[in-house]
Amino acid sequence: MVTIAERLTSAYARIAQAAKNSQRSEHEICLLAVSKTKPAADLIAAYQHGQRQFGESYAQEAVEKVTQLAQYKDIIWHFIGPIQSNKSALVAEHFDWVQSVDRIKIAKRLNTQRPTGKAPLNVLLQVNISLEDAKSGCHPDELMNLAECVSHCDNLTLRGVMAIPAKTDNYQQQLQYFEQLRTCFDKLKAQYPQIDTLSMGMSNDIEAAIAAGSTMVRIGTDIFGQRT
Ligand SMILES: *Cc1c(COP(=O)(O)O)cnc(C)c1O
Repeated sequence: MVTIAERLTSAYARIAQAAKNSQRSEHEICLLAVSKTKPAADLIAAYQHGQRQFGESYAQEAVEKVTQLAQYKDIIWHFIGPIQSNKSALVAEHFDWVQSVDRIKIAKRLNTQRPTGKAPLNVLLQVNISLEDAKSGCHPDELMNLAECVSHCDNLTLRGVMAIPAKTDNYQQQLQYFEQLRTCFDKLKAQYPQIDTLSMGMSNDIEAAIAAGSTMVRIGTDIFGQRT
């Protein structure tokens, strides 16, 4: 049986190879271990192998794990799932990053609900790149408006953009989606030079994402195995 530690090592090797193929340094690309639906023991296995950044998608489940793993104080928690209004307080209270802010209403709630005394919440704006009706993410045309709102929120720090494009095994198609997000990132950075995070690429498509400039890949299945 392949262990989580071994899978993590392979994931880092895959990132290094993809970076090399694009004449980039592997150190420019952060690996977020996506642990949704997986038990705390699996996160601990990854932690003991040096992993510190974890991504979760379901607020209730995530908060249970954040609580269970409270002794591991250097874990950096990212919320990456859709945010319902009635769950925004959980996200504001328990996470270091949120990657799925896609509307002004949610940004304002997170800003209000972020506990005083905690560092500002790091925010990525989720963009609906392949424009599927059912997908979350703001329309690319709304991005600058949303960014302006976040930039005025004292308890939020704008860090960049995230997208989950339509799933495809076609490399050229993957690349095309990721280049669209890269264009959004560059446009945002022209206005907000301090932003530094372009979150794109999952188990199926990190090579194309890294070729298009990703600075953070989000890997679940390849580290923790299939979700049931
Ligand atoms: C589940 C999820 C991932 C990880 O996907 P895998 O295909 O399992 O690597 C990445 N990003 C988001 C936003 C997710 O919800």
